[in-house]
Amino acid sequence: MILKVNNFLVQLENDFPSLVFKESADFAWQADSQTVRYNPKADHWQWLLLHEVGHAGLGHAGYKSDLELIRLESEAWEYAKKHLAPKYGADISDAFIEDHKDSYREWLHKRSQCPKCGYGGWQTGPDHYKCPSCFSAWKVNSDKFKHVYRRLNKK
Ligand SMILES: [Zn+2]
Ligand SMILES: [Zn+2]
Repeated sequence: MILKVNNFLVQLENDFPSLVFKESADFAWQADSQTVRYNPKADHWQWLLLHEVGHAGLGHAGYKSDLELIRLESEAWEYAKKHLAPKYGADISDAFIEDHKDSYREWLHKRSQCPKCGYGGWQTGPDHYKCPSCFSAWKVNSDKFKHVYRRLNKK
């Protein structure tokens, strides 16, 4: 098993010599340092790692809105599934990808829903939303897909 893990990583490191692969508690793509973080103890960690390499391969370096982030996430999965997975003998399941896409949509729904009236808000800044119905404004945290909370702006 350890041999298999190493082979997978060695192959990735050979194919992407400009990237830094760093063992971590989570999975992430950090464009500024060209670093892919991965956790080899996670279920289907190879699929998740290929997803992050997908961000790298597509040159993703940031996003201006939550909708754009969700588009980038979908693109990274598509790239990982079509272009990376076959090369590394990884057969990323469609259900796995759909589950992730659902969690992004749920995350977006939670962030964008007006805490006061429940109406769907408009994003007005990287972490700000405004309700077109009751005109409340709220701030969301910038941690993507984690610890979603909404806090009404004090007026
Ligand atoms: Zn991603
Ligand atoms: Zn509202």
